[in-house]
Order: sequence, then structure tokens, then C-alpha cells
Amino acid sequence: MTSPRRSSPRPAHLEGLDRYEPGLSLEQAARESGLREVVKLASNENPLGPSPRALEAARAALARVHRYPDGPATALREALARRLGVSAAQVVIGNGSTELIDLFARAFLGPEDNAVISEGAFARFGQVVRARNGRARLVPMRDLTHDLAAMRAAVDERTRLVYVANPNNPTGTWNRTREVEALLDGLPQDVLVVLDEAYFEYADEAEYPDGVRWVRQGRPVAVLRTFSKVYGLAGLRVGYGVAAPDVVEAVDIVREPFNSNVPGQAAALAALEDEAHVRRTLELTRAERERLGSALRERGHRVAPSLANFLFVDVGRDAAAVYRDLVAQGVVVRPLRAYGFDTALRISIGAPEENARLLTALDAVLSAPRR
Ligand SMILES: *Cc1c(COP(=O)(O)O)cnc(C)c1O
Repeated sequence: MTSPRRSSPRPAHLEGLDRYEPGLSLEQAARESGLREVVKLASNENPLGPSPRALEAARAALARVHRYPDGPATALREALARRLGVSAAQVVIGNGSTELIDLFARAFLGPEDNAVISEGAFARFGQVVRARNGRARLVPMRDLTHDLAAMRAAVDERTRLVYVANPNNPTGTWNRTREVEALLDGLPQDVLVVLDEAYFEYADEAEYPDGVRWVRQGRPVAVLRTFSKVYGLAGLRVGYGVAAPDVVEAVDIVREPFNSNVPGQAAALAALEDEAHVRRTLELTRAERERLGSALRERGHRVAPSLANFLFVDVGRDAAAVYRDLVAQGVVVRPLRAYGFDTALRISIGAPEENARLLTALDAVLSAPRR
């Protein structure tokens, strides 16, 4: 008899790490609820979908998929560079900007190096750093917001990266220009701030900073943005980073040569041109963010101030149970236990009828006797 095969031991640096739990897909949610009509407000997607021009470009690009993509995504990088007032050598394309979060860790963290991250920040920051054998120095938030002064104080001689999501996911909260500037002013020369601006376009506050301005000034900042949110192309996986040419070069060394795909590049390029679609998306989302936020506050929930396309909502009781009951009603949101928020949900801003269904379902769930 052969002895049972031992599974390979998990390396020490992966101990205690969990897989990233994405929101339920529509198919999973339909299966779990037994309902055909499911509302998905779980992944901060664009309820209007992509620009029709982006779809058309993606369709046309399918004729070329027997060829490898243009590895450096030259046309897309040039278009982004023109728009952002930087050179194409300052732009790198990712398979979604989440890939770039990982590529920066891979490019800049040596053994024993660390990255400073806020405790309630986007979960991938800490996960990729630890999975790359780096150390994550976690700093508590203040009022659900990154405490940038405390993060600066946490920087030591082994710190190479500081990850800041602005606005942050899952809290939607944000940091002002002068706060980020103070962080930059206080950092040693060899520390790079990775400023994740996945929700940049939704922000409409005068004191919310445009991080690319610091890149243009030669400050040690890498800005990450994405086509997954306002451009509605989450399924095609295109994001980008903007940084100094030598920083981009380091990322290019670790980047897989064909990390973005043919239809994705074509769709992103076309999406950039359709400014009317972006405008429609922003008008809808900002108006609904206001309406849904007010409706939730009127019901007594604590809603964090959000500049993004989602709301962080404290329902004041076990949010995992509320989440499950909402799924049974055909509405999928995100419970935030993995982030340490046991009573909070993250709710993406949908179309008006989707938000109305969320409110109706939430009222039904919260007024039902507790099990
Ligand atoms: C959605 C999101 C991203 C982008 O995701 P991709 O689809 O990989 O581009 C990046 N950072 C944060 C904080 C996000 O919420």
C-alpha cells in the first residue's frame, strides 16, 4: 500500500492569510437565492455598463485574438499620457489595477522590507505584501479614515512602500490634499507612496487631490487608476499606473509581458474617448449616492461620508446575518467582517430601481424578528 500523499506545507509567510473573498457573482447569487432577478451591489461596478463605443471596439478586436496583444499597450499608454500630461514612459498598464498593487510589492519590496498600510484599507494591500514575503506595518484608522500622520510615523528604515487608497475601499472615506502633502513631505527619499485612486473620477470635493499632479512634480508617488469602475469594464481587466520613468521601468521588469489583452486594450482606448458616458455615469452615481445615503441615514444607520461609488453602512447588528438575509431577497452587497467591521455592509451605488430594491429588502430584513 502506498502511504497517503502529504500535501505540500504552506510556507510560513502565507500562514494566516486568506483568499480574497470577492462579492458573489450574479450566477452565484441567483443560485443561492433561488431567484432569477438578482440585484448585484457588491463589487462597485457601473450600473450603466460600458460605453457602447468601448463594446464595439472590443468586438472588433476579437478578430485579432489569434495574435498576442501589444505587450506594452503602446496606444493606450500614449492616450493616457496625453490626457494626464505625463510621458508614455510614465504609464504602465495592469491586468486591472489590482495587478499593479502586487507588481509594486514585487518590484520594490526586498526580503525584510516593509510596507505601511492602514488597517481598514483595501485588503489586497496587506495580502500581496505578505504573500511577497514582505512585512505589512498596519496602522489604525481614525474615524474610518486613513491616519496619514500615524502612517508617516510608522515608516522605519526598512519601509519601501506606503499604500494609500484615496478614496478608500471599503470605507469610501478620503484624505485631503494637505494631509497627503504632509505625508509626502515627511517621508525618507527611498519610500514610494502607492496612491490607489480607483474611484478618482467619482470624487467631487475641492480638497480631494489629483495624485498625478505629484507625479508630474517628480514627487515619490505612483498613482493607480482603473477602467473597472467609472468606465464599466471590470470584466476586461484593465488598470494603469502613473509614476516616474524609473519606477515604471522597475515594474515593467516584473510585469508579465502580455498582462493586458487585445479586447481590453481596444475597449479602454475607446472608453477614454466617450466622455459623455463618463459624465452620465457620474451624474447618476453622485445623485444616487446622495439619495441612498440620506435614505439610509433616515433609517438610523451610520453611513460614512463617501466620495466613491459605494457606501459604508453600519447597520448596528451582525452584518453577516443581514447580508445572508439580503441574498435570500435577491440583493447582494458586501459584508465587511474580513475587514474587522462586524456590523457594517458595503453597498455599491446602483441604478435608481436597484437602490430602491435594496432599501425595500433591507427594511424587510431589519424589521423581521431576529433569529
Ligand atoms: C476596485 C478597486 C481597484 C481596481 O480593481 P481592478 O478591477 O483590478 O482594476 C483597485 N483598488 C481598489 C481600492 C479598488 O476598490
